[in-house]
Amino acid sequence: MYTCLSRGASLDGTVLVQGFDPRKIQGGMTGYLRQEFRELEIMDEITTLRYHGKLPNHINASTRHSLIRQYQVWKGVEHVPKHVHSSLRWNKSDPMYLVEEQTEASWRLLKKEKKVVSKIEGQVMTKKRSAASMANSTSTFMTAQGTKALQVASHDLGSRPRKKQKISETASSSQPRPTGLVWKAETLTCAYDSLLTILHSIQQEEPDKWEDDFSNFNEHFQTLSQGWSESSQKTLEDVRDDTQHSLSQKNPESFPMSHEIGTDLYALCEEVFSASSCDISEKVTCQTCNLTSRDTHRSSAYWQLSGTGRNSIQAQFLKNLDCELNEQCMHCGSPMHKKIDFNPILPPVLAFSLTQGSVKVTPAIDVSKNGRKVRYHLKGIIYHGGYHFTARVVTSQGDVWYHDGMTTARECIYEGKLNELTDIRDAEGRKISTVIYSL
Ligand SMILES: [Zn+2]
Repeated sequence: MYTCLSRGASLDGTVLVQGFDPRKIQGGMTGYLRQEFRELEIMDEITTLRYHGKLPNHINASTRHSLIRQYQVWKGVEHVPKHVHSSLRWNKSDPMYLVEEQTEASWRLLKKEKKVVSKIEGQVMTKKRSAASMANSTSTFMTAQGTKALQVASHDLGSRPRKKQKISETASSSQPRPTGLVWKAETLTCAYDSLLTILHSIQQEEPDKWEDDFSNFNEHFQTLSQGWSESSQKTLEDVRDDTQHSLSQKNPESFPMSHEIGTDLYALCEEVFSASSCDISEKVTCQTCNLTSRDTHRSSAYWQLSGTGRNSIQAQFLKNLDCELNEQCMHCGSPMHKKIDFNPILPPVLAFSLTQGSVKVTPAIDVSKNGRKVRYHLKGIIYHGGYHFTARVVTSQGDVWYHDGMTTARECIYEGKLNELTDIRDAEGRKISTVIYSL
């Protein structure tokens, strides 16, 4: 039947003359075929956009798979091109997922020097290698008369590197590329996705330090460390779901697992960055007569910074640790003094929520402890806007990566060096919300 129909010129001119099983042509299509048609629709849209000059430069891969993936990352996986037929359209209940990342086989030109080396290595190797180099080298192909050899085909590495892409390649080859978490619509995970993408990058970059300083900070860091350990079979999303589940069990109001109510990032940071081992004392005293009017303790390494907004985070935080208050001693009338101390040790991480967006983000924060200067480094920033959180990851090399669980999914997009980015306080229209530093 397939052969007969494929030979027909039009539907109107086709008559089926014998009885047949209607399921053969009305049974719907397989998931595989639907995926194929949907991918073709995306390719069609890309071609149209390119023809009209509306395709951004970064949608530039030269293989079908990579190109579709770039388009999905750009538009978001939920985006359906305008002209897709209703029976093919995808939505939340029948989603089209981000196509998985594939390493494209690349062509490599063998250079003459290499052949010389292989000759020295041994005659047998030389024969094998020269056969292999015949297959890959353009110089060994004979071009037809009147035509030119297609140089580009053998230099094609699966994507056409442009300037920005090249930087990204340099960054990713010298160090591991951070991995992001894929957003889950059923439980609105973006607060977790952003926070855990940053924490996971810290763990990946310095596993030994993580083991010493972070893994036993509190029960949440224990869950993360176990889930992210080499022996674990869990994906980053599994570990996130475990964390969200245990928080939700403890406090379902602050940590809902619902497709309607998202998680409050403040509540999440307060919980994740609190530990019984973290004893931070806050004393308000009069330095003239030594009267202490308040002596409180907190166990959270998470701070809300407000203020005039002109200062840097470093200045604001240090002022918060040691400052004169607008408050008078009831004995002598001198101004009262606030001093915050970390007992016995500094927490491995400091997180700040910025109530004023104009506070300057410093790449490091120096805190003194027992006369010694201890440096915290910027590890990531969480942004908020339109009921969604996204993140930037900052590596110890100062490379900045952008992540949005909804659009970039498991991927992080390289943006450049921290000191070269013009405004770190905005990301794709979202505003800075929380900044994370670690030792
Ligand atoms: Zn006093």
